[in-house]
Amino acid sequence: MHLFMATLSTETNTFSPVPTILSDYEAYYLRHGTATQDAPNLMTEALHVWRQRAEALHWSVTESLTAIAEPAGLTTATTFDALKNEILDDLRNSAKPDVILLQLHGAMVAEDEPDCEGRIVSEIRALCPDAVIGVALDLHCHLRPRLLEHADLLIAFREYPHDDAAARAKELFSLAKRQLSGEISPQIGMFDCRMVSLFLTKTDPMRAFKKEMEAAEDIPGVLSVTLGHGFPWADLPETGARMLVTTNGDLPLAQETAKALGQRFFELRDEVAMAYSELDEALDQVEATSSGPIVLADMSDNSGAGAPGDSTYVLEAILERGLRNLASAIYWDPDAVQACVAMGEGAEIELDVGGKVEVASGRPVNIRGRIMAIKSGLKQHLGPALEPLGRMVWLRLQGEIDLVINDLRIQVYHPEVFEQMGIDLSQKHLVVVKSLFHFYTSFAEIASDVIFCATPGRVNPNTARIEFKQRDLNFWPRVHDPFALD
Ligand SMILES: [Zn+2]
Repeated sequence: MHLFMATLSTETNTFSPVPTILSDYEAYYLRHGTATQDAPNLMTEALHVWRQRAEALHWSVTESLTAIAEPAGLTTATTFDALKNEILDDLRNSAKPDVILLQLHGAMVAEDEPDCEGRIVSEIRALCPDAVIGVALDLHCHLRPRLLEHADLLIAFREYPHDDAAARAKELFSLAKRQLSGEISPQIGMFDCRMVSLFLTKTDPMRAFKKEMEAAEDIPGVLSVTLGHGFPWADLPETGARMLVTTNGDLPLAQETAKALGQRFFELRDEVAMAYSELDEALDQVEATSSGPIVLADMSDNSGAGAPGDSTYVLEAILERGLRNLASAIYWDPDAVQACVAMGEGAEIELDVGGKVEVASGRPVNIRGRIMAIKSGLKQHLGPALEPLGRMVWLRLQGEIDLVINDLRIQVYHPEVFEQMGIDLSQKHLVVVKSLFHFYTSFAEIASDVIFCATPGRVNPNTARIEFKQRDLNFWPRVHDPFALD
């Protein structure tokens, strides 16, 4: 047997004016068939699992491209073509595969292709009409018809924060192997929940709902249940949460089960919605609380959802209020990093930080401080995966405000962002992280309190106010019951 596998992943915020180009993939992670020679990151964990399982069965393996970019605006047409065509060329040049497994994101949009995953899988299907094609997806995927038409198996992460990539990859491999042997014949049913929001899976009621999804997998004939949460900041006709159920040869059962679970999820909509505070309210709470460290998430500048990662709304407000004894990361500012590298550790410096990338960045903030540390090659954990951090600089202002800036766009996943620079968070009253939710599991262990804060940035969590033009506006939470007129 022969396995062909590849990874292509970015999550496109179609409202961002910042295009995603080839150098963004090169900066984050780009390998031409060698990704499994490195330690796994979130989007390559699947490749490691698949290679290991295939080789244990004495299958041959062709590993093609792995290309991952931190989310931003549309991937340019030339970049998408180059990446897609590399996978297709590798496929043409490899031995005929029996199984094709892909780790894709599910929310990638290019300038000339609104449905990148559907396009890739349809072109692969045209080349390999008889192969088993299985696709692993991020939980924030758009589950679209072309993908369903051409893939045999689709499984998305079930956890947010995403710490189950390896588990989902094992599940996909197992189902692909069973299909290959003729044991199963997958049929996929889908239900559009008409919900556009964020759903956190580590606490109830989502934690309990995951158990309902798992229980549905015990129904005779049901092989797999996936909830695609959708990615809200994408103006596409299909944006929103969709329930997907795969059965063994029974399409009506797949459709009925997807509808029943999707309706159950819809019933929970007011309870599963993510709570957050506006900036002033959040900082009032910080000032009224004496214990720490309080962790405040600057949700709207989450580069992991396509925000610039250099917005200064929170920093400006903190300085204006005269808050002290705090740390904040990560401000993406390659020019400021370069200036600090030129000056060296220990130097006193005055420079403009942040507020440079796009209109949602706000204004640059002029700061004076000391360069405490400059480090390269550090990584941070996201679950078991290790993600790169680029070149990092620790700046100290006014003796007790610690800022971390870097030259690689990435959100904060783990306290080691600070710790590896030498910043002791246990002594801080406030820790501000640019992240929407992926920081939560690891920071909750050290925080006295966690505040989710909406700022004027690119990914404001109030999804009812997203200015969709392609997507119809009959969705929750914009409409309380979008099924009422059916
Ligand atoms: Zn995601």
